[in-house]
Amino acid sequence: MPRNRSGHSVIQSAIDIKRWQQQPPTVVEARPARCPACGAASCPLGGAIQLQGHGRRERQVWGPASPDQPPEVISVAARRYRCLGCSAVLLVVPRGVLGRRIYSAAAIGFALALWGLALATAIEVRRRVGPARILGESAVTGWATLRRWAREVAQRRLFAQAPDQGPSASLRKSAATAAASLAASADPTTRALPIEHRAFLGAAHAA
Ligand SMILES: [Zn+2]
Repeated sequence: MPRNRSGHSVIQSAIDIKRWQQQPPTVVEARPARCPACGAASCPLGGAIQLQGHGRRERQVWGPASPDQPPEVISVAARRYRCLGCSAVLLVVPRGVLGRRIYSAAAIGFALALWGLALATAIEVRRRVGPARILGESAVTGWATLRRWAREVAQRRLFAQAPDQGPSASLRKSAATAAASLAASADPTTRALPIEHRAFLGAAHAA
């Protein structure tokens, strides 16, 4: 179970980022079926609710809303729950938001595909994925975040469902393998789209 910086378990909702923003789910709609820490059912039949609403937490999400749009910074109101059984605090986020990461899963998949498969330069990738008002004019020689993602893919700490490519693969090769796997997981109706768009869509569903 991924955890955020405060040590809370992070659970992805079935609701995607766009829909969550347009119509934030109620405490009932976003409530997980069970506690991931102790396994208790959140609403046992005939019993009291075990996962109680515990307020909301504003959460930034960085990256483009679609491959053709400029990168942006948005804010979503994640929902917190507290388990009466084991006292765990859970944070429920929209699908496509990853536990400890500020960039959306789609943005990271898109970046890996642009760099690894479309062979864009790191600066070009940053222009398409990184919100300018955050990144400013610094780091004109590359983008450390992109290399970190590729390294984490190789170490299987990010998109761990991608095939293992062995210890000798370059960072760019790791990015390419992960991006190809994400693209392959996108809906078959997207087959005509460029592969980096399909990686974006496939990543949006990756946990
Ligand atoms: Zn619990």
